[in-house]
Amino acid sequence: MRYELLDYQKYQERINELINNEGNIFRVIKQEPLVYTRCDFPVEHYTIGDGPNHLVVMGGTHGNELISVDFVTQLMSSIARGEGKFASFNPEEFTTHFIPLQNPEGFVINTTAIKKVIPDGTSDEEIEKICHDYWWNFKQDDIHTRENPSDRSIKMHQMMFASVTPDDLSDDNYELKESVKKLWDTYHYPPGSMINWTANGSGVDLNANTPDNPKNEAMYAQTGVITYGGARYNNLPNNIPSPIGCPRKDANHFEFEPENLALFNMLSGLHESESFVGLITYHGTGGVVYHRPYKFINNENYERNKKINEEVANCYGEACGYATGGRTYLDEPSITGCGDLMRSYLPVTLLVELSVMGGNPIAPYGDRGTYAKTITSNKEAFAKTLAFISERKEEISKNYITGSR
Ligand SMILES: [Zn+2]
Repeated sequence: MRYELLDYQKYQERINELINNEGNIFRVIKQEPLVYTRCDFPVEHYTIGDGPNHLVVMGGTHGNELISVDFVTQLMSSIARGEGKFASFNPEEFTTHFIPLQNPEGFVINTTAIKKVIPDGTSDEEIEKICHDYWWNFKQDDIHTRENPSDRSIKMHQMMFASVTPDDLSDDNYELKESVKKLWDTYHYPPGSMINWTANGSGVDLNANTPDNPKNEAMYAQTGVITYGGARYNNLPNNIPSPIGCPRKDANHFEFEPENLALFNMLSGLHESESFVGLITYHGTGGVVYHRPYKFINNENYERNKKINEEVANCYGEACGYATGGRTYLDEPSITGCGDLMRSYLPVTLLVELSVMGGNPIAPYGDRGTYAKTITSNKEAFAKTLAFISERKEEISKNYITGSR
């Protein structure tokens, strides 16, 4: 177990360490990056195993969901070392693909804010205390906003990071710094909101970046009305480029962000060749496994995805004590995201909200016992899910959309 607040450099060090670990039983291979972001960060891609059944595991879609990157890198290390149940991992059966950090730009923005307030050298006790305060403040913000929904003043959790501005970004990341500074100067986000930076460096939220999101029609340039996030995010705009929730860069037309497009291309290639057996994307907080598709691509496909996703989600959820289900477009169109879009096309596509301690990025680190349990129980759940997939892989990999087998 590694209790450590990652930043971009520590993330890279951790990856290098786990690739070169002499205790590895299974080799971790560094593949070509999926894509380079607009500000030239690689979206890194690693594999373990080279079997015909391809499972994709991803973290860091949201820049502020630190624990998802933390978890995916620890999972990679555990599989590589054959720890516990992973001793029986079969590299001739599976190719496991890891994309530990889909949104490096958002991650750099967010972790720069964390590092300013919690500098290197801070003791674990002190880290835990600050993170626990943040968790508490976050809860108070929820309560206060519920009672005062029109109060858009600075939130208590933002107050802790009010001193952070885009000027704190390193000059080494010049393009990113300029991009965020420009957004900050144009749109005047509340002080402290670098800690809410979920989006990429263009201010687009990769999960909100789907053509089905009704916020596409509510973009400010078309309506002249600013809309805001829910609950404690109600002072953050979401229909202009923003730290959170904005579906697209250009107000006038929809496009997928490069980080998403590269992922979709990879997934559809695997699915077309009937070698795709699953996608598990990790997010930050909630303790929920989302599994419901919403779109009828064709009936056979929809019914298969709905059924198998529910079964596999129950397998995962039972193993770590998480609720399964999760809301989709079908319940409330405005909460739709790339998660439920992908679940409509692909079987065994789960979105796991990791920590039960709400408040990205640092609340999940507010109690070391809870943190350890989150990491351990999700590794356990992943191992059980892998066994489930192994039993059902024929059925899962069948492609009903183009159907060749
Ligand atoms: Zn998320």
